[in-house]
Amino acid sequence: MKIYPVFIPHAGCPHRCLFCAQDRSTSHADVPSAEAVGTWLETVLPEQGDGEIAFYGGTFTSLPEEQQTLYLDSATCHIASGRVSGIRISTRPDALDARTLARLSDAGVTTVEIGCQSFNDAVLINSKRGHTAVDSVRSVQACQVAGFQVGIQLMPGLPGGDGEEAIRSLQQAIDLKPSFLRIYPTVVVEGTELAEHWRAGDFTPWSLDQAIDLCADMLLRCRKHGVPIIRLGLQSDPQLEENLLDGPYHPAFGQLVRSRLWRRALSHAGRHGNNFTVNPSDLSDALGHRGENREWLKQADPHITISVDQSVARESLRTSEVDLQLFDFNVQGGH
Ligand code: SF4
Repeated sequence: MKIYPVFIPHAGCPHRCLFCAQDRSTSHADVPSAEAVGTWLETVLPEQGDGEIAFYGGTFTSLPEEQQTLYLDSATCHIASGRVSGIRISTRPDALDARTLARLSDAGVTTVEIGCQSFNDAVLINSKRGHTAVDSVRSVQACQVAGFQVGIQLMPGLPGGDGEEAIRSLQQAIDLKPSFLRIYPTVVVEGTELAEHWRAGDFTPWSLDQAIDLCADMLLRCRKHGVPIIRLGLQSDPQLEENLLDGPYHPAFGQLVRSRLWRRALSHAGRHGNNFTVNPSDLSDALGHRGENREWLKQADPHITISVDQSVARESLRTSEVDLQLFDFNVQGGH
C-alpha cells in the first residue's frame, strides 16, 4: 500500500524517551502546520488511489485535540474524493482511550501504529518510556476491538534487553495478532540521553552482525505465525547517518536479514547436493548484499553453484533431490 507520510517530530510527546531524537534521525526537523500538510497532499495525491496518509514521528493522540482535528481534516477530505483509502497515525500505548478511538474512527483513521518497543517492564523503565507492557496489551486490544488495523513497533537491544528478551517481547506482540510489525534494533543517536550513557560506557549497542542474526530469528518467527514485518531497521536518511554514534544501522538492513536466512538455508541444504536453483526474484537475497553469501559459500564449499529458474516458487530452494521452503527448514539461531 502506498503511504503518504507526514512527519510531526516529537509533536505531542509527553517527554523524550531515552533513545529518541526524531529531529536528528530524520530530515524532518520542523512540525508542519495543518495548512502546509493540506497543500502538500494536494500536490502528491493521485486523482484516485488506495493509499493512506500517515502521521509519523510524534504522539499524534497526545496533541491538543483541536490540532489533531486540523490535521485530520486536511486528510479526511481526500478519503471522500477517493484519492486515498484511509489515514494512519502513530502513537504511544498510554495515549489511546475509548473516546480518542471513537474520534479517530469518525475522522477516517484506519490504521494505528503503536510504539510498544518492548513487553518487558524493566526495559521500558530503563528506556524512560513512561508506560508498561500492560498498557501496550490493553491499547492494542482496544484498537482491534474498535476495528482499526494495528501495527506494533518493537526495538530490540534497548538497555537491559538481550536476545532472549527480544524474542519474548516479539512472541507477546505476535500473540496479540497485530496486522503488522516494525522492528528497529536500537542505535545510539546524537542528542539522546542514550548517547550520554554510551559516552559514559554504560551502554553498548548490539553489533550489526548480532542484530542481523537476531532479526533473522524474529523474521522467521513472524513468518511462521503469519505476521508481516513491514520494516526491519531504520529508514536510510542522511540526517540519521550524520548523527549516528553507534549501533546496528545499515541502509540495506532488511536485505541483510533476509540474506542471513538464505545463508542458513543454503548451509543446511548442503546435504542435498551443492547445485541450487532459486526464483530469479530471490537471487539478490540468496547471494546476499554485495554477494557476501556467495563469498561465504565459496569458502564453505567452492563447488556450490546458485542458478535461477522461473519455475522455482518464491522463497524456495531447489536441489537435485528436492524443493525446500526457505521458512520451513530454516533453523532458528543457527548459521
Ligand atoms: S519514542 Fe515516540 S513517544 Fe518517545 S519521544 Fe520518540 S516519538 Fe515521542
